[in-house]
Amino acid sequence: MTHLNRPLTKFLLVALAVAMPTMANGQAAVRPDADPRVERIVAAVSEERLRQLLTRLVSFGTRETLSNQASTTRAIGGARQWIFDELKRSSPKLQVSFDIHQIAPQGRITRQVELRNVMAVLPGRSPRRIYISGHYDSLNLGDRGQAGLNTGGGGNPQASAEFNHDVEAPGANDDGSGTVLTIELARVFAESGLEFDATLVFICWAGEEQGLIGSAAHAQELVATKFVVDAMFNNDIVGNSRGGNGVVDAESVRVYAVGPEDSMARSLARYIARSAAVYVPSHQIRLMAREDRFGRGSDQSSFTQAGYPAIVFREANENFSKQHSANDTLDGVDFAYLAQNARVNAAGVATLGLAPPAPKVTSERGQNLLSRGKSGYDADLRWASSPGAVAYRIYWRDTWSNDWQRQQTIGNVTQFILPNVSIDDFVFGVAAIGADGHESLVSAYVSPVRRSAEVKVIKWPNV
Ligand SMILES: [Zn+2]
Repeated sequence: MTHLNRPLTKFLLVALAVAMPTMANGQAAVRPDADPRVERIVAAVSEERLRQLLTRLVSFGTRETLSNQASTTRAIGGARQWIFDELKRSSPKLQVSFDIHQIAPQGRITRQVELRNVMAVLPGRSPRRIYISGHYDSLNLGDRGQAGLNTGGGGNPQASAEFNHDVEAPGANDDGSGTVLTIELARVFAESGLEFDATLVFICWAGEEQGLIGSAAHAQELVATKFVVDAMFNNDIVGNSRGGNGVVDAESVRVYAVGPEDSMARSLARYIARSAAVYVPSHQIRLMAREDRFGRGSDQSSFTQAGYPAIVFREANENFSKQHSANDTLDGVDFAYLAQNARVNAAGVATLGLAPPAPKVTSERGQNLLSRGKSGYDADLRWASSPGAVAYRIYWRDTWSNDWQRQQTIGNVTQFILPNVSIDDFVFGVAAIGADGHESLVSAYVSPVRRSAEVKVIKWPNV
């Protein structure tokens, strides 16, 4: 019997791998059961508080990075102190601080400036971090604002000595929306009473409009001090549902994730789509396989540069005529829509924060732990165990597909063999599952780029 049984089992496994139907939109079959604790966090997001916070934030008139720092009622100095105080008032569990950097003149920073990001840390069981952010600085480029730049209306005026840093720049949507989303989620998570595995960092950046200065300075320090950052949820311009072209969409949000296709940023984007499908099913996640909108950027790129997985949320349809002008006012913000985007963030951060870290699928020397196994024709997956994991889930898909098509949940092991599944024809990934069922990001096995040495050629007439 046994000699017949073994090949049969092997055949069945292969047949299963090949015949298992592709999941509809790649999501349906991987939904975890909804966790009531996460549901409570999502439900705790307050549209009314978002409105109160943003009304107060725009009352500072401008939050331009080089604007007045001395006043407590106007410009960036007053605004950042208010954000600090508001985070402190939110919960005694938040460790609130200014993240201060002395920035030398460079590019659009025309004089030395003391830049302050405002951060609130909610410590988890482990020091590995998940970031949630928006930039609180604002900008008024005058005349046509961003619309002028978009349509080739001349160079960026910020570098000129005559640029007025104290002119009205309400920045209600850019990026007051992302700022108050961050402040509100800090409260919601701190008040949830839950202990997360990851340490959550809620941070409001300055200097974004001068070239991501605040986030870059912060990310540089993270790298220098060897912090582990598992994910960064950046929110920039997430509160308006009516595009400048008249298109209205309050039911979807865009998530931009830098490649290559199996980057951890893309893994994070897929994760957000899945958690939103479970906890905020009324909101659609539109995944964008690029770093950001065409020719534009934000603070997630500072984290990408530093080697951390980072994505950015962007509203469905922008109104460029309001951005970077005196017109970026409260009436351009749809608070119900902003609250939905905050809930999507909350669902992703909560599930990821409760999950163990993603398994490492490379060796300490950076080599892939994927091979063809002893037979030479199997998919032999190995990985390093994740602290806190009780099980793992294997994912695979056709190489030409952009989302996982097949999956299998397995026990608490660090190796799994798919017999007769070619590692040349499929992409594989592994996620760790914690005791309460929450899953990490999927770590994919990435085929290394092969670089060939330059061929030395002898040129005529020396042949
Ligand atoms: Zn912005």
